[in-house]
Amino acid sequence: MTSAPQTPVYLNGQSNEVIVSTSPASGRKLGEVRVTPLSELPSIMQRAREAQKAWFEAGLAFRLEVLRRWQENLRRDFDRIVGMVVAEQGRPPFEALTEFLTAIELIAYYRRSARRALAPKRHFILLDPHHQHWTVRQPYGVVLSITPWNFPILLSVAPLVAALVTGNAVIWKPSEYSTQVAELLARTLRGSGIPEGVFQLVHGTGEVGAALIAQQPDKICFTGSTATGRKVAAAAGERLIPVTLELGAKDAALVLEDADLDRAAHGIVWGALFNAGQACLSIERLYVMRAVAEPLIQKMAAVIEKFVTVGDGVAPRVTMGALTTQAQLEIVDQQVREALASGARLICGGKVLEGHNGRAYAPTILTDVTPEMRLMREETFGPVLAVVPIDRPEEGVEAINALGCGLTCSVWTRNRARGLALMERIEVGHASLNDHIITASVPQVPWGGVKNSGYGRSRGVEGLYDMTYAKVYSAERFAPLPRELFWYPYTPFKYNLLRRFINVYYATTWRERLAALFGR
Ligand code: NAD
Repeated sequence: MTSAPQTPVYLNGQSNEVIVSTSPASGRKLGEVRVTPLSELPSIMQRAREAQKAWFEAGLAFRLEVLRRWQENLRRDFDRIVGMVVAEQGRPPFEALTEFLTAIELIAYYRRSARRALAPKRHFILLDPHHQHWTVRQPYGVVLSITPWNFPILLSVAPLVAALVTGNAVIWKPSEYSTQVAELLARTLRGSGIPEGVFQLVHGTGEVGAALIAQQPDKICFTGSTATGRKVAAAAGERLIPVTLELGAKDAALVLEDADLDRAAHGIVWGALFNAGQACLSIERLYVMRAVAEPLIQKMAAVIEKFVTVGDGVAPRVTMGALTTQAQLEIVDQQVREALASGARLICGGKVLEGHNGRAYAPTILTDVTPEMRLMREETFGPVLAVVPIDRPEEGVEAINALGCGLTCSVWTRNRARGLALMERIEVGHASLNDHIITASVPQVPWGGVKNSGYGRSRGVEGLYDMTYAKVYSAERFAPLPRELFWYPYTPFKYNLLRRFINVYYATTWRERLAALFGR
């Protein structure tokens, strides 16, 4: 076994391999987990398949009771779980708490709403009145959930709870950078009396994720980078496995001249720096009307100066943690350096801070950036905000839409109607007025992006639908007829009867309808 401060150890498929978890801001070892050997994956899949049938047949009430106990276990383990997020990610406890809150509310929401959302829907068909038709939501079977490290509670709990409540078995491969949080979550779920095989935790890097897809799960939920999402989609497409993709983004805010600049400065700084900018939905680009650009920049710099204290999240008063992975820190630093070398102007930050295991990056604001810069084209998983003054709001909309991704956006203005009209034209899954990130903390609404930010939806009722397929039943209402109208024989009488029906029923005026009814 080897241990490295930032990179977990992975030695390709042997049963004695381990992933060592260390705290990013201190390098302190937190624990280790055994990497699941590739040779065990077929039996893991087999166990899931066998267990899923009984889990589904046990019924919704039984599953909801397990979820009730899981919710209770999570609540009891709150301090330990939040503490581990702080340790494993270096985040301030308040941020870990907000993630926990959304996750536990998601479970509570599904406990309240699943019965109604999953109830059979009945249909009355005029052309077929003696049959009953109804649609039910059928679980796919075995769901493979692959998750990232950056919101290790919420992004783990969301696919798990939706898959389980709908009657699927789940194989979960968390990120190799959040294994200790994953272990704690798994412990709370196992302690809720979930039957053996319905939930299984598999550890490893992308190699294990790819090998799990080759086991032909019935559905894949993937959250991670766009680059990995493409690989997952390709592997799933080859096997025709339905997949939900929640991917990266380069989200933006648009500030109009009439915005409340104090509120915008606070909200945008928070939206850019929350989780040290390691969020798919963080504000990375700010398009602001030229007349208010400089005052807004100055206000944002002042908010950072006053409220943002960088360090190890375990320390009191720290409001922004270190970056979780060394690789991301280097990408962030390179993007900023390249932009500065190409003429960008630094307002604040722009460097790796001393101490904190070399992993803390200063909160950064830049302006005079151009669309060609990598900083303006690729995801920046760090605390960096690029400001672009514009002369018309439409310019901002066009620039936001010009990138091939779209998860969230925000428009800041006192004119609600104008703001909503602009939001309608921005191509994203989530648009907020005078706030950012808000919809991510509301489990009742669906979550997901468009274009390169992915497809499919989690959370909300849509999240339950996403884990199921529509299955339609039909059965005779009364005793079966000897023969159906559409069966053989095809007679002129039946043809004319149906022809008359089409002309009567679909006529758009009464004159045509009456003519069809009484004509030849
Ligand atoms: P990542 O793509 O490196 O890894 C995500 C997961 O995929 C990990 O568990 C990893 O082990 C696994 N993986 C890697 N290669 C694989 C392969 N070939 N086959 C199967 N699985 C594989 O992402 P990350 O660095 O863990 O997370 C950060 C990224 O996730 C950012 O781009 C961020 O924007 C995105 N993200 C998106 C959302 C969203 O809701 N849209 C939420 C959080 C994070």
